Order: sequence, then C-alpha cells, then structure tokens
Amino acid sequence: MANKPRVAIFDFTGCEGCELNKLNFENELLDILAHVDIVEWREAMDDRVDEYDIAFVEGSLSTPDCIERIHEVRRKCKVLVSLGSCATLGGINAMKNIQPIEEVREEGYGEDKYLFPTLPALPLSAVVKVDYEVRGCPMTQIEFLKLFTALVRGQEPVKPDYAVCVECKLKENECVYEKGMICLGPVTVAGCDAHCPSFGQYCTGCRGLVTDANIAGMEEILVKHGLSVDEARKRLQLYNVNQLEGVQR
Ligand code: SF4
Ligand code: SF4
Ligand code: SF4
Repeated sequence: MANKPRVAIFDFTGCEGCELNKLNFENELLDILAHVDIVEWREAMDDRVDEYDIAFVEGSLSTPDCIERIHEVRRKCKVLVSLGSCATLGGINAMKNIQPIEEVREEGYGEDKYLFPTLPALPLSAVVKVDYEVRGCPMTQIEFLKLFTALVRGQEPVKPDYAVCVECKLKENECVYEKGMICLGPVTVAGCDAHCPSFGQYCTGCRGLVTDANIAGMEEILVKHGLSVDEARKRLQLYNVNQLEGVQR
C-alpha cells in the first residue's frame, strides 16, 4: 500500500453511530489524518473520487441502491472494511428479515410502500468481498484504531474467535448470572474486553456469534434462567438473525 493510503468512508443503512464514534476521536483523529488522505466522507466533506486504497463502510444493505453502491465501492477500493454490527452482520436492521418483506414494507410505509423498495437487511459480505471487520454496536474506537494502525503499517490485524466470557473471566468480573441477569457472553465473539459485564451489565451479543457457537446450549441456559423458548430465540436473534436463521451471512 502507498505511504499515505487514500481512505474513503461510507454509510449505508444504520444509525451512523459507528461513524460518529470515529468523529469523536479527538486527539487520535489528528494522528489518523497525519497518516492517510481521507478522500471521501459524506459526514465530514463534499469531495467524491474515483479510487481509494481503503474503504470503511458502516451500515447494512437494505435497498437496491445499497447493492449498487456497495459494488461501486468494492470496484474502487483495494481493501474493504465493514464497521459495526450492521455492516458486519446485518445488525438490528436484520430483525425485519424474519418477517415477509412485503409485510415489513406495509408496516413501515403503508400505502406509500411502492415508493420504498426495501430488501432484507444484509451484511456487506453477503454481496461483496469484505477484507476486515470491526465488530460491535457501535464499533469501538480502540478496535478501529488497532485495525487502522495494522493496515497503515501493512500488518495483519488480530481477529479473536473466542467468547466474551474468556475476556470477562480474565478481568475477574462477577458473572451477571450470579446477579439474576442473563447474558450472551458464552456465544458472542470477544474483542470488546467484556465491555458490558465489566460495567455490571449483560452482553446482548452485539459482536456476533463465535464460530461453532453452541446455540442449543445457550438457549437451554436462557430458558433455565426464566425465558420462554420464544424469548430465548428472540434474545439471540437481536444481532444474529442472519446467522441463526440462514437469511444471509
Ligand atoms: S452497528 Fe450500531 S451504532 Fe453502528 S450503525 Fe449499526 S446500529 Fe448504529
Ligand atoms: S457475565 Fe456474561 S460474559 Fe461474563 S462470564 Fe458471565 S456469562 Fe460470561
Ligand atoms: S459485552 Fe456483548 S453487547 Fe457488550 S460490547 Fe461486548 S459483545 Fe457487545
């Protein structure tokens, strides 16, 4: 990659929380700007360019226009990075995928539904090749900076594939199950340093499932701790509906 990589940042269907998290870097943002040329970023500038080295993309793909645009981004970039749960998993947007899309359009737009060609919400990887991911809802600044630094240095970023529980135990947190809560840490990909349990909260699974997650075992635990079978499934679906129900991943 060139000494000063050209970076472009895009948003698709999401709340822009991941992008705003980037804008809040304060001191680090100046360091970032010293190492790259940001050539396109709708939230911060008006310029449009024909090619760039790294594209950072937030949001899921949920309209025909999204599909067209992500193909264009992929054509123009050398490295594509998905930012946050929406881009990496489909995210909360993908909860609509468990309903027939016509019903979703009807509910969302009523008689104007034909003006809004909604599709099931997909992760970027369902449509184009994704080179790296920064998970989480929102993605964290620390993880973004780690990946960013590795890319700028030409190093391979580290990608954890073990459960949040591992990080939680290493931090010697009291398990929230001991406090009567339920937690998706056992099946959720680590990398957030067990953020929520470290603040006494439960993990909602925002980083997606570990490879070979024991879903049946997790559901059994959730039911044992008071959820109905249906509630347990819904809890797991919050961020992982595409992975669990096979809609797309
Ligand atoms: S991952 Fe979360 S914070 Fe980021 S765009 Fe999606 S909903 Fe917003
Ligand atoms: S609080 Fe959650 S992440 Fe921590 S050990 Fe218990 S189940 Fe695992
Ligand atoms: S603990 Fe769970 S919900 Fe909280 S940030 Fe980590 S993966 Fe997301």
